[in-house]
Amino acid sequence: MANAIRVHAYGGPEALRWEPFVTGEPGPGEVKLAQRAVGLNYIDTYQRTGLYKLAALPAVLGMEGAGEVIAVGAGVADVKVGDRVAYAGVLGGYAEERLIAADRIVKLPESIAYDTAAAMMLQGMTVRYLFRDTYDVKPGTVMLFHAAAGGVGLIACQWAKALGATIIGTVGSDEKAALAKAHGCTHTINYRSENFVERVRELTDGALCDVVYDSIGKDTFPGSLDCLRPRGLWVSFGNASGPVPPFDLTALKGSLYATRPSLMAYTAKRAELVANATDLFRMVESGAVRISVNQRYALKDAADAHRDLEARRTTGSSVLVV
Ligand code: NDP
Repeated sequence: MANAIRVHAYGGPEALRWEPFVTGEPGPGEVKLAQRAVGLNYIDTYQRTGLYKLAALPAVLGMEGAGEVIAVGAGVADVKVGDRVAYAGVLGGYAEERLIAADRIVKLPESIAYDTAAAMMLQGMTVRYLFRDTYDVKPGTVMLFHAAAGGVGLIACQWAKALGATIIGTVGSDEKAALAKAHGCTHTINYRSENFVERVRELTDGALCDVVYDSIGKDTFPGSLDCLRPRGLWVSFGNASGPVPPFDLTALKGSLYATRPSLMAYTAKRAELVANATDLFRMVESGAVRISVNQRYALKDAADAHRDLEARRTTGSSVLVV
């Protein structure tokens, strides 16, 4: 018997219950992990509140983790007991032990520690698909990236810089602005005290952005669309302030493109998952991207982590320590 954080009914952070949970043994194609660290992600709050519905309740929350393989099921050939592995996008992470399909995990390079892996798999693979697959970010690309001091944000600042792009990052405080800058953000805008659309117009001399990465949702709509040049791309990939309201397609002004991507869709095939993770490991091992684990909580205290994340008190990535 191991312990896990489960949700029995959608609600606030108090809905997270630390309780004994029977992990079971791996079935065909599965492995069992002793988890060493678990990643905290904004999606965990959407799944806790029911904004994103879970397949069934009660459910073990959590989409990301890293640990050691302690048992393998029938037909698993590429993974063995003792391997160090990590994953992202597979529900059931907030647990001391878990079962997972072997084709959803990747082996960790020796140089990457468990807590770094748990902090970076979901947020880092997100930046990789956003910059390589959703839009081809190149030297000279001008982008607006909201929440630039957050978990996805600090990785995006460094990755954009490595690609030679100009990244304009929005942040909720002056301290966060300094942090984003220190991670390679070209310009920052405090969108709590400044009009971000006006500032983007000034910073780009009216040329506006090729692409806007918007994970804020309700509060930055439709302003984000006003930051795009003709035929620019609006990437709506999250809803930290609430979902984007339904809108008329004429809001796209005759030429803008809009997409609503998810990591799960972009890594659905094993080859996509491996290519993405390999690229992420390369960026981290080269030093181009450093993972900032700025908050650590005991797994049983996941509710405190959710409170801090939703109150905008965190920066960079957060890890739940097993
Ligand atoms: P963050 O660490 O970025 O935390 C969210 C940040 O959003 C806050 O720190 C805050 O930064 C900002 N924010 C702005 N308005 C609000 C608000 N009303 N309430 C709370 N926060 C607000 O989280 P993650 O790095 O885990 O995720 C970032 C975003 O990316 C989320 O929206 C998430 O859902 C999305 N995401 C989407 C994926 C996909 O594939 N579609 C995959 C991964 C993440 P500040 O104070 O600076 O404004």
